Amino acid sequence: MRRLCIAAGATLAFLTAGFFPTAQAQTTFKVGTAEAARGRKAEGFLEVPAGVDAATSIPVAVINGRNAGPVLALVSGAHGTEYSSILALEQLIEILDPAQIAGTVVILPLVNLPSFYQKVPHVNPVDGKSMNRFYPGKADGTQTERASYLITKEVVERCDYLIDYHGGDLDESLRPYAYWAPTGRAEQDRVSKMMVLAFGLNHIIIWPDRPTDPAATRYLDNTASVRGKPSIVVEAGHAGTTERDDIELLVSGSISVLRVLKMLPGEPLTIENPVWLEKTVEVASEKAGIFYPLVKRSGYVAAGMKLGYVTDFFGNVIYTARAPVAGIILHICSVPSMKQSDNIAVIGVPAAKPPA
Ligand SMILES: [Zn+2]
Repeated sequence: MRRLCIAAGATLAFLTAGFFPTAQAQTTFKVGTAEAARGRKAEGFLEVPAGVDAATSIPVAVINGRNAGPVLALVSGAHGTEYSSILALEQLIEILDPAQIAGTVVILPLVNLPSFYQKVPHVNPVDGKSMNRFYPGKADGTQTERASYLITKEVVERCDYLIDYHGGDLDESLRPYAYWAPTGRAEQDRVSKMMVLAFGLNHIIIWPDRPTDPAATRYLDNTASVRGKPSIVVEAGHAGTTERDDIELLVSGSISVLRVLKMLPGEPLTIENPVWLEKTVEVASEKAGIFYPLVKRSGYVAAGMKLGYVTDFFGNVIYTARAPVAGIILHICSVPSMKQSDNIAVIGVPAAKPPA
């Protein structure tokens, strides 16, 4: 109900702005060093102090709308080589006009700068940790944990809604999809489902059974979700590329969510009939060697079909990966490098019917 009140207030503020300009809260919104007065945009950094290892700076933009409303956080680049998602948020910082916005948009376009600069996929090369597995973080931990702690305090705890952006790391040939994680709290789930449908990606993974302990939420979206804030995860991009189609999906989806939350005027482009996926099945390699894929992202496979094979360094096939289930290839390894237990593919299994 609280959220409904916020939305109604935001709409009212939008409608009455011309008549009662002084009725708007004249507050500034500050995240890290980015401080934006109402109706303004500001850039700055979340400064993660040095601890057991080096300090780091996370870029942040605050777009503080002219009219009052909720706070939406958009976060990308926990994996600093998932470039499409990073470029999409950079574009949104430029595109979003505070004069049009009711509420505040906080954008972190690139959480994991060391990964980006050093072209290291999956982890923060400073401490070897994934920057989307250590939430809510620790003030006295390693760099990833200290950054996660600061993001929890400065962004998650102060937002009303959150979107976490990913998209096909250097070794992942990925087709676009979103995650929707129901919590069992009806109103929160209604809003997060409205957000994921408004985002418009046509494949949506239903992700139940997330960690519920606020002190061990692991993932960014789950950290927001456990704290009562509707949140979703979106992915588009593949294998280090920055194709316009992928970036455009993420930019237009974000604008559509701003519309469904009444933070921007205009109608959202809500998808009517997405493919809901009831689970995902990961296929890992049993051998180290050179990987050759036999399927492409977005292809359909039957149970038992070959996904690819691994050779030794003399051309001898030492392992053949087969699909354990029928489904759609969400992503397939895009490079020949293959260690034992590395991911070969992730298969999404369509749900028989949409979630209630
Ligand atoms: Zn990622």
